[in-house]
Amino acid sequence: MINDPIESLPNTSVITIRRLKSIGINTFWDFINYFPSRYEDYSLISPINKLQEGEIVTVTGKITNGQYVVTRNGTRMQKFKLEDSTGTVELTWFNQPYLLTLFKPGIVLSVAGLVRRFGNKYSIEPYEYEIGVPGKHTGRLIPIYSEKRGLSSKLMREKIHNILNQLDHDRDQLGKELYPKEILAFNKLTDEKSAYQNIHFPDSQDALNKSKQRLAFDELFTIQLTSALIKKEWEKQTVGHRFNVGTDLNSSLQLFINHLPFKLTVSQQKVWKEIENDLTKTKPMNRFLQGEVGSGKTVVAALACYLAYLNGYQSLIMAPTEILVQQHYQTLTNLFKDSPVKIGLQTGSQKICPVKTGQISNCDIVVGTHALISQKFNLKKIGFVVIDEQHRFGVAQRAKLKEKGMSPHVLTMTATPIPRTVALTLHGELDLSMIDEMPVGRLPIKTYLVPQQKRTAGYQWIKRQIKEQTVQAFIICPLIEESETETLQSVKAVTKEYEYLKSRVFPQLKLGLVHGKLKSKEKDTVMNDFKNRKYDILLATPVVEVGIDVPNATIMIIEGAERYGLAQMHQLRGRIGRGNKQSYCFLFTSNNDSDVSERLKYFAVTREGRLLAEKDLSIRGPGQIYGKMQHGYANLKIASFTDYALIKQTRSAAEYFINHYSLDKFPVLKERIEGRKIEEVGRD
Ligand code: ADP
Ligand code: MG
Repeated sequence: MINDPIESLPNTSVITIRRLKSIGINTFWDFINYFPSRYEDYSLISPINKLQEGEIVTVTGKITNGQYVVTRNGTRMQKFKLEDSTGTVELTWFNQPYLLTLFKPGIVLSVAGLVRRFGNKYSIEPYEYEIGVPGKHTGRLIPIYSEKRGLSSKLMREKIHNILNQLDHDRDQLGKELYPKEILAFNKLTDEKSAYQNIHFPDSQDALNKSKQRLAFDELFTIQLTSALIKKEWEKQTVGHRFNVGTDLNSSLQLFINHLPFKLTVSQQKVWKEIENDLTKTKPMNRFLQGEVGSGKTVVAALACYLAYLNGYQSLIMAPTEILVQQHYQTLTNLFKDSPVKIGLQTGSQKICPVKTGQISNCDIVVGTHALISQKFNLKKIGFVVIDEQHRFGVAQRAKLKEKGMSPHVLTMTATPIPRTVALTLHGELDLSMIDEMPVGRLPIKTYLVPQQKRTAGYQWIKRQIKEQTVQAFIICPLIEESETETLQSVKAVTKEYEYLKSRVFPQLKLGLVHGKLKSKEKDTVMNDFKNRKYDILLATPVVEVGIDVPNATIMIIEGAERYGLAQMHQLRGRIGRGNKQSYCFLFTSNNDSDVSERLKYFAVTREGRLLAEKDLSIRGPGQIYGKMQHGYANLKIASFTDYALIKQTRSAAEYFINHYSLDKFPVLKERIEGRKIEEVGRD
């Protein structure tokens, strides 16, 4: 029953079914997991003679009279008289003539609404009604559902009420418990059935709180248990051979570090120690390295590659785009220029390998796009894999490696600022490292908020800077639609803006344009031309790849800054401030709301991506931030990533479960976990 398709809902039109499906509701289970966005309190039930002006009440009575009234200025009203044993009250609706056929005299009606008084006559401005006594829509805490695709809150309430009622009659899955009894007891959880009942139709505020708590627990627990299971599987694997860090190797490594063109920051050293320690174990490393754009993650990865090399192993470095692959290739070639380490590059369109090696498969380090691992060629002795700029933590890539029978050490790196609680929750199976300081000598980017009326002055200033300082600028066009792939609409908008800036604002400068609808080759060409200073200004849409290194670009304009999440904007800003000249970021906005400018001011003075991500989390909620960035990756329905206590609680509950039970004994739980795992692997 609970898994029945929604087609089997009684009295439901084909259109409604289609609409439900379009918002992801396919089964009864999906339906009861569509939670209210808020509640209205209509629980005050009043006899008619006790009505008080201004109160929101529910009254129940008999309709005695109905009238269609048109006022002098043409307003059409439907007026009814409702009578109970204590008195009569007037109800007035506007523009709903069908109510006259619905509310025939004699019918019992319950109405929730606002009491008004004219002289000594009372009337009710109805908010909700239901025929008969209160139960679903009146006389209690009423769930309000967000209305999407023409699905009204009332309709959703009606259908969910029916499903819950039916579950009550059937002996259903919800009657059995998900967890062992002691987990329920220890965590003081209300039973699942009552949780679902009360999240939709709460008997009281207290019952509502209890069900929220239970459902939030369920949500986080399933995530934690999934991670714990992945971790357990991962720990069963062993790497082919453990890496040696004997004295000889140590001194080679130390020599290499000493010969770097810079001194490692304290943070880099600390992270390197963590990685080095993992690499000497037989259990494969599964580490997640987070660090600001430009904080120097690549060098740390290079050290691990070198250690692999010293032990006779190859390393694989994967990045999401060709241009990032090229950048890594150049960086590594530089770092290893005085060493015998041979570096190769392979992408869909390009292959480079040192003459001496002959083949890519003979290189010590191979840099390539993520597609690399699904390709046929085989590195013989892969000991270490780096997955760079992967928002999704390389879950899919790890699964692929495993399919190929490989279990190397894996380092996943990202500049995406993810709050620690989020990382810990979603990927409890990973060990976390963080580079939290920038190399010395970088000048912090100066960020300014530019209101509409100062736009022209801003352009003038930029023009002068470009001429006098021979620097370059990015102009990031506004995010038009929150979508993964760029729409034609935004391409049109950016093209128009490009024409305008070129002819009207910067006629003496060279402008380039790059957007998501260009082929990746064309994109690379434009980016390279910009890097080689063929353009002074590059107009780009926000979807264009981050991570690109153009040290001479020191100015960035972000158009429509109010539309971005702070963390996302921080990523954009990270494209400047990479050289030793002072960089400037200008936030152009046409919205002067005080909360918008407060948010942007916070952005202007905050340099740490992690703090910005945490701010986003507290003001916009995780769904909003990660929704776009990572396909609804962190879309918690009811729990919150800011609820650190519950995160901890569910984590230890999951550990307890794993240590005492086998998932096979809990088929319902197993089904949910498996659903989650499939989602994860399919995510890339
Ligand atoms: P990201 O963390 O964004 O991947 P990179 O590893 O590409 O950053 O490093 C950015 C730049 O900083 C590179 O040019 C690199 O050579 C330089 N760099 C890295 N570590 C240091 C350091 N400790 N001191 C100075 N410069 C460094
Ligand atoms: Mg990088």
